[in-house]
Amino acid sequence: MSIPIDDLLKRLHLANARRVWKHLVQHAETEKWSYEHFLATLVAEEVAHRQQTRLTRVARSARFPFLKTVDEFDFTLQSSLRMNMLGSCLSPDFVTDGRSLILMGKPGRGKTHLAIAIAYKAIQNGFDALFTTAAALIDELSRASREGRLQQALVPYLQPQVLVCDEVGYLSYGPDAANVLFHVVNERSLKKRSMIFTTNKPLKSWGRVLHDPDLADAIVDRILERGRLIVLDGPSYRTKHIELDDPSPAEDGQSGAIISGMAAPSFPEPTGFWVTRVPGLSRHVLRCDESVDS
Ligand code: ADP
Ligand code: MG
Repeated sequence: MSIPIDDLLKRLHLANARRVWKHLVQHAETEKWSYEHFLATLVAEEVAHRQQTRLTRVARSARFPFLKTVDEFDFTLQSSLRMNMLGSCLSPDFVTDGRSLILMGKPGRGKTHLAIAIAYKAIQNGFDALFTTAAALIDELSRASREGRLQQALVPYLQPQVLVCDEVGYLSYGPDAANVLFHVVNERSLKKRSMIFTTNKPLKSWGRVLHDPDLADAIVDRILERGRLIVLDGPSYRTKHIELDDPSPAEDGQSGAIISGMAAPSFPEPTGFWVTRVPGLSRHVLRCDESVDS
């Protein structure tokens, strides 16, 4: 009696196993694999496929304007920021401890790049993230507040485990800017949810930018309660070829990674990768401790 393997795998929603099992059987026979090795490879392929699917789905829903990783960041352009200073931001603890980050520097120093890279690492670590600009967040929430639906409008900014709020510093925000941003920061801080801000302005100028110095102080205070300020310097990456820039630190003279609030533990990059490769199949890299869903 022949067993309808394809149908059974379909019923179990094992789409990848259904796609690869015949090829794997052939390979196992030629290579004289044990039953255990065959089963382990089939299951590992399914898990790897699901992880890749999840990564693509969650990264898409994060709405990054571009995708960059820490590996693509050239630290030689930075005078004092080093890869090991970011170690703790790349570990799962960054999210589970609800830590935050403010990346400060002039344009083109890689603030948005690093914010995306850290959020993407969190996604790889099994969490979810949302990227927004401060302008978009403030515009949307100010409108919602005027229309009496602020609480509902806040939800998408409170739920993701990591929120990237890019470009605090442009002077065109409406009068309600500090108020709506405070709602987001305060509620996320109470829920111990991570936030990553980028800014081209020293923290003491946030009051002017947000039109309310007291609320701006309260915002910064909550972000740095479990957060760090990292100042990016060096030349602008966008225009470094024409040597336009003065490679001096940010406006307020702060340089390098400034630690505020808590001390900065220096965790190494999480490793724990499991690599499996079968000729004819895609190569997958699995994180052993990553949660898996489809
Ligand atoms: P910022 O947000 O500080 O204005 P971005 O992060 O948008 O700057 O960087 C501008 C461009 O330059 C992006 O394509 C980014 O990937 C690249 N870039 C900036 N700094 C670096 C760096 N140190 N190493 C590699 N690429 C960088
Ligand atoms: Mg930017």
